[in-house]
Amino acid sequence: MVIESMQDKVIIAGPCSVETPEQLRATVVPLVAGGIKEIRVGIWKPRTRPGSFEGLGKQALPWVEALGNELEVDFTTEVARPLHVEEALRHNITRFWIGARSTTNPFTVQELAEAMRGLKVSVMIKNPVNPDPALWIGAVERMQAMGIEDIRLIHRGFSNYSDTFYRNSPMWQLPISLKTHFPDLPMLCDPSHICGRRDTLAQVAQMAMDLNFDGLMVETHHQPDAAWSDAVQQLTPEAFFALLKGLRTVREAV
Ligand code: PEP
Ligand code: MN
Repeated sequence: MVIESMQDKVIIAGPCSVETPEQLRATVVPLVAGGIKEIRVGIWKPRTRPGSFEGLGKQALPWVEALGNELEVDFTTEVARPLHVEEALRHNITRFWIGARSTTNPFTVQELAEAMRGLKVSVMIKNPVNPDPALWIGAVERMQAMGIEDIRLIHRGFSNYSDTFYRNSPMWQLPISLKTHFPDLPMLCDPSHICGRRDTLAQVAQMAMDLNFDGLMVETHHQPDAAWSDAVQQLTPEAFFALLKGLRTVREAV
């Protein structure tokens, strides 16, 4: 259950990728039963190198739409091209996120912003893969210039050349500086893509709570080890709720 102390946080959970209707249902039903109101799903997957699972694409949209209607829950998905926005909207998905690779590219962000111009959509903007706050700020400004008001930020860490403890370095000072720059925009943390493995998720999620982040986005899968993408970092819904339960928020500390 989403515990009382987390009620004022935005908590998003769901699989890295939609794989099958059965996997989607088996993962999402327990999340919704536990009180999660916004579910993440990857439909178009930006894989760094070709050859791995790149998402089911529009084939998954009817499954997502039907489950959303049945469970009365909102889904959010990554969009990287105007076509993704159009196809998702056709299936009543109006919540999107811009992935870390897309945020690095002003042309891409501009095209996405134009595809959403004047629409009542919600957009989360992940930090760029490289630690450049100006690209992150610029992506927000491009969305705002198209009249998008419901904007949130997601901190998912920054890529490295060498092997590091975390898959993507948190560099906490960067999201903190963005929080200062955009005091009205909620800042969420995505510990799954920072950590790249499940055993360190709790410590990163706790750090985000200590810094008074506004929420978390965590990858969950009913059978994480069998996941078609990001298997080592996903949590079962049960482990995810246990993680939430173990977190202390700033509100509890004062
Ligand atoms: C994701 O959230 O599944 C994803 C691909 O994230 P990122 O853009 O942070 O790598
Ligand atoms: Mn992932």
